[in-house]
Amino acid sequence: MAGRLPVRNPSRARKRDPWPRLAIRPTSRTGLGLFAVATFAPGDRIAVIEGETITATYDSRYRLGSRWYGVGPHAWVDPYLDNPGRFVNHSCDPNARIDARLAIVALRTIRRGEQVCVDYSLTEEDPEWSMRCRCGAAGCRGVIRAGRVFEH
Ligand SMILES: [Zn+2]
Repeated sequence: MAGRLPVRNPSRARKRDPWPRLAIRPTSRTGLGLFAVATFAPGDRIAVIEGETITATYDSRYRLGSRWYGVGPHAWVDPYLDNPGRFVNHSCDPNARIDARLAIVALRTIRRGEQVCVDYSLTEEDPEWSMRCRCGAAGCRGVIRAGRVFEH
């Protein structure tokens, strides 16, 4: 493997947009985010996360990449630069989830213009990890931590 960050393939970029129902736009609180430009029904597959797999031991000195998703104990995926999964922000009141095949799946109807968000704590297993939350949801937990730590 040459390096962790993939290089965007120009020939691929010229092809038809593989995610025509999605757009990446700035958000008011959390940088770029993934937005629906068409309606998704509950259970719809919104996108599939594809990227480099990273393994590491849990260590308080070690900083998780801000766009990594936990995919198991000591394992993450760092989505490719052109993958929609790279831009999905956290919400304590999410409208989507990530399933075992790394598909982002709608939990409820997501309307055009809505930001697609998942709950990061549902996939992260690193007990050392936490993140201040600025999601703005009514039930915001303030700090997000791994929710799966005690399953192993
Ligand atoms: Zn929150």
